[in-house]
Amino acid sequence: MIDFHVHGMPWQMLPDEFFVARAEALRATGRTRETDLGRLVEKMKCNVDDPDLVRLEADLRASEIDHAVLLGIDWGLLGDGTSGMHPTEQLAFGCRAVQDSAGFFSFVPAVDPRRADAVEVVADALARPEVVGIKLYPPMGFSPADPVCDPVYRLVAEAGAFLMVHTGRQSYPFQLEYGRLEPYGEVQRRWPGLHLVLGHAGAHLWGAEAIEIAKGHPTTYLEVSGWHQLIPDREEELRRFLGVAWAELGPRRVLFGSDHLSGGRSSARVPAIRRWWDIFRSTAEDAGISLADVDDAAGALLRYDERGGRGAR
Ligand SMILES: [Zn+2]
Repeated sequence: MIDFHVHGMPWQMLPDEFFVARAEALRATGRTRETDLGRLVEKMKCNVDDPDLVRLEADLRASEIDHAVLLGIDWGLLGDGTSGMHPTEQLAFGCRAVQDSAGFFSFVPAVDPRRADAVEVVADALARPEVVGIKLYPPMGFSPADPVCDPVYRLVAEAGAFLMVHTGRQSYPFQLEYGRLEPYGEVQRRWPGLHLVLGHAGAHLWGAEAIEIAKGHPTTYLEVSGWHQLIPDREEELRRFLGVAWAELGPRRVLFGSDHLSGGRSSARVPAIRRWWDIFRSTAEDAGISLADVDDAAGALLRYDERGGRGAR
């Protein structure tokens, strides 16, 4: 059982602008009794703090996950470009985590392609054995079809690694428009050999679009974390989405992800991950999909050196 989407980090990986915006939004809902913004921000930092990933590995092993793809985050350009962990530091953190975990994690660093040193960071990352792909987060404020992304796409395609992107829901201070799926048609046409993983598969705003974008391009994949948020009241809709995805894409292009983020009280979410996996598994069985195929496809994506890229570098 491979989890293709997990997060763990020292809180410093995320910029203050993010915490402040989320704290203000939470306070505005009245769902917190904490009225002091500073204290609310401190609590949020605690809830995402897991600097040695001890919590993350324990939560995932308790969820019976055998291997997890650790994703980096580069939100450093949200505000004045001064806070959040620089991608170079993030790369060192992620590679160390893979080494310390004795193979439990693979790492996908994130980079904002608008950074002046984005190309150097990506080239450095792809030369490391701990790294299996690169993640972009367009809702930071750029279109995935913007030419600023092309040098990153080129390096990832040449290396045979995969490009993972955030698609689907996101709110202020991010830009929902760039969570849409349509621009990936242009990306596929410009980079037909690219292995493209649509993180969250449009969850849960644009599932049909995500399937349609993936359908015609044999190396585009759906990673379906985020859809699990429908479990409490819209489980049937979730099962229907998975069923259509498998019917259209077959067993090898739908990847399981939990989007688990470790920190203060994250172990409380272990039963929810197990429930999500049970739904994923039983829906696959109902659709006649072999979990061995699902797993084999995920494993093959992680072993990109077998596609000849890394050795050719
Ligand atoms: Zn995520």
